[in-house]
Amino acid sequence: MRKKGNLDTRIKECGDILLASEGTFTNVKEYIKQKEYIDYKKVFNNDNPIYLEVGCGLGGFAIEFAKQNPNINLIAIEMFSNVIIGAIDKAVKENLSNLRFLNIRCECLEKFIKDESIEKIFLNFSNPLHNKSDEKQRLTNKRFLDIYKKLLTEDGIICQKTDDKDFFEYSLQSFKDCGYIILDECWDLAKLNDKDNIVTEHEQKYIAQGKTIYRVIVKKP
Ligand code: SAH
Repeated sequence: MRKKGNLDTRIKECGDILLASEGTFTNVKEYIKQKEYIDYKKVFNNDNPIYLEVGCGLGGFAIEFAKQNPNINLIAIEMFSNVIIGAIDKAVKENLSNLRFLNIRCECLEKFIKDESIEKIFLNFSNPLHNKSDEKQRLTNKRFLDIYKKLLTEDGIICQKTDDKDFFEYSLQSFKDCGYIILDECWDLAKLNDKDNIVTEHEQKYIAQGKTIYRVIVKKP
């Protein structure tokens, strides 16, 4: 209990870098209907493109991306407060004006993010959730791909990386079923030798274990 209270205090003390935290509610549909759209212009003080990272974990990717791309604004979302707090602590030290966080579940994105306002979404090493009973929670399940479709701009893009072949195959099918256009499908990222690839915490671990990394880039239908 004490630990949780401490976490709540730390979350409250994050200041401007944390744009919002998920409130308590009984019905998600009702909750997201009451819009609290992020005013990008006010937050970032510019009209630069907005990208999202869904499930940012400890924030390594988000921080590196923001450093390398000062002309892109990145909003990193993560559902677990005890995880996002680590990402925020690191990001504060870097003092990046183009990186902000949302402590929410992906299910609630539409409450905070305006339709057709996001140019690119990163899904980095989302939980594969192998049990059939968890299928709806996979971040490439149709219900999430439909949300991304609404939030993405006309030519909006999603970039997904995973170490899990079954999840990769599932995601490819799900993207196709939802009408997304596959722009690039890579079955072994190491072979591409892509110098622009930013390695996430999970990716680093999986590479060290000798695992293959898969990546797909898709365009909104
Ligand atoms: N992107 C990081 C972390 C990958 S682990 C990396 O590559 O290292 C996946 C992360 O997604 C976890 O931190 C998990 O809490 C988060 N996550 C899973 N489902 C989510 C959801 N519905 N909404 C927000 N975050 C979610």
